Amino acid sequence: MGHANRDKVVTTVKGKCRVCFTCVRECPAKAIKIVDGQAEVLSERCIGCGNCVSVCRQNAKVVLDLKGEVESLLANKDKKNVALVAPSFPAEFTELEDYRLLVGMVRKLGFDKVMEVSFGADLVARQYKKLLESENQGDYISSDCPAIVFYIEHYHPGLVSHLAPIASPMVAISRLARHLHGEDINTVFIGPCIAKKAESDEIDVALTFSELREMFEKYSITPDKVEPSYFDGPASGMGALFPLSRGLLQNVKKSDNIVEGNIIVDSGKTRFKEAISELERGEIAGNNLELLCCNGCIMGPGMTDRENFYYKWSQIGKYVKAKLQGIDTQKWRDDLEKYGEIIDLSQKHMPLDRRIERPEEQEVEKVLREMGKEDESDLLDCGACGYETCREHAVAVVQGFAEDKMCLPYTIERLHQYIERLNLTNEKLKNTKLELRHSEKLAHMGQIAAGIAHELNNPLGVITMYSNIIYEELEENDPKRDEADLIVKQADRCKKIVSGLLNFARSNKTKLRKTDMAELVNRSLESVVIPSNVQVSVDSDLDDTMAAVDQEQMMQVLTNLEKNAVEAMPDGGELKVHLSGNKEKIHISITDTGCGIPEENKEKLFTPFFTTKDLGKGTGLGLPQVHGIVKMHQGKINVKSNTEPEKGPTGTEFIITIPRNI
Ligand code: ADP
Ligand code: MG
Repeated sequence: MGHANRDKVVTTVKGKCRVCFTCVRECPAKAIKIVDGQAEVLSERCIGCGNCVSVCRQNAKVVLDLKGEVESLLANKDKKNVALVAPSFPAEFTELEDYRLLVGMVRKLGFDKVMEVSFGADLVARQYKKLLESENQGDYISSDCPAIVFYIEHYHPGLVSHLAPIASPMVAISRLARHLHGEDINTVFIGPCIAKKAESDEIDVALTFSELREMFEKYSITPDKVEPSYFDGPASGMGALFPLSRGLLQNVKKSDNIVEGNIIVDSGKTRFKEAISELERGEIAGNNLELLCCNGCIMGPGMTDRENFYYKWSQIGKYVKAKLQGIDTQKWRDDLEKYGEIIDLSQKHMPLDRRIERPEEQEVEKVLREMGKEDESDLLDCGACGYETCREHAVAVVQGFAEDKMCLPYTIERLHQYIERLNLTNEKLKNTKLELRHSEKLAHMGQIAAGIAHELNNPLGVITMYSNIIYEELEENDPKRDEADLIVKQADRCKKIVSGLLNFARSNKTKLRKTDMAELVNRSLESVVIPSNVQVSVDSDLDDTMAAVDQEQMMQVLTNLEKNAVEAMPDGGELKVHLSGNKEKIHISITDTGCGIPEENKEKLFTPFFTTKDLGKGTGLGLPQVHGIVKMHQGKINVKSNTEPEKGPTGTEFIITIPRNI
């Protein structure tokens, strides 16, 4: 924008935008910036076409409201106020049987004169005819649609010289109004267009039809309360057709026989851009362009209802037909000749370059990669972001108009990744909670066990000592000697259980020493009775097998696990010990091909006295002890097991992870 002293013709209501990117898609000037998830209109890039206003279902775009300014003008009676009503009014006020009622209503608001812009269109058409006849070299672009004029000045400044040097119908009628009613008057344009608000300082205020309706409502002006009234002259002719695309052309053509062939007429936000680009490339040289940004002014964003195109079209046609029947053709021609000569209908156009340099290809590529678009096949060009291609979107990201989050496939993919990560985290959390509960339970049991073990340790010592003394003192053939021996053995077993309990409760301390874990594993295997049907193997991925451990306790861990493995393979199998790890940790995996551990038993493994072995064979203290020792080493213990042959070979793997240095 930039002609009139007005800015921000369209603004955004913060918070209302739901970032659907429809406005980005519909804006022919790419004048929408997405900042913090809100679409913002960039006034310096805006051409005032109002597409964003029309398409925003959230009503997050608002048009500059100038009703207050008009009210101030009307309140000041020192100056004459002249309303200039755009020729599209029959398409807006379809409820009025007689157009003269509208004129009456506008007068009721306080306007001194109400003129029809269509006579301005007649004047302008006469001027176009002259221009095209005089040079007839083509390549002119009509300058009646302000959004098109802004578009060319901002984005195709090289084509500004092609803009017809002719005023718009609004400016033409305003100049005529000043000629007829005095220079010192206020002119208020009323029409379907938003861009008109910033088109020219020669107009005091440009209102939309919607605003006019709001004013009627505010002041309770209804058709039944006004006198029907004719427009203040001069009366117009074919210029009333102006709001339809081909309107101006029809006007030019009808008044004289300009060959239609070299005038290209088009409208709508995509087509007008194409026509301008083709003209710029020289592909349609020799032609003149009559372009409208909207699908005819009757579909302008300042209309209250932006539907029913053909009905609106027919309303204009009806009005013009009636008008032409009643017109004094000679008077109209005379007026046209007269004012066409008196009124200055020229208009200068200046480039207002708002182009932005295209960023370096490397930067664009970088953004594309950041959006997960590694190669051509990732460029979906789905248009969900509002840009036609992924590349255009990336360019806008580099230029600071768009955000990478606007890419729907990328955002969906990221969401999926988030969900996956969240699921994993949840799973971990669940496991950690379970472990925590388990550890708490074990800790409680440990406390009780430690208490009992301590209490039992001393009397057991006494029993062991005295039963040994009794045994020693009894003669070899004394029948009581076997019984004493039984007492000694059972007391011994009790001692083992108590020491197991103490280990589990970890009332003992660890004595850490640098240890070669591979060597410790080999030593542990030597102290386990391994039947001939069990194959043992040890291997290691480690260069450095050293870790700080309590050798005796770690020995117990290994032998307990190895014994369990052997006991799980009564019919033979393989026992594998594998060492792996990194700088910080060592993993010792002990795998067997035994019966496996059923799922329901896994939770109970580390609970003292849980055993599935026959009475006298198992104490159920091995794994609790392993658990206690590993925890004392600030390590971890994991179990994987399979009991179902259908799911693969059965067996169990215990993995102990201990830090190399605590
Ligand atoms: P115990 O060996 O005295 O039964 P543990 O605490 O060492 O006590 O083991 C508890 C139980 O865990 C065992 O009875 C057995 O059911 C199960 N278990 C331990 N290790 C294995 C393994 N490698 N394969 C199958 N079951 C095992
Ligand atoms: Mg055991």
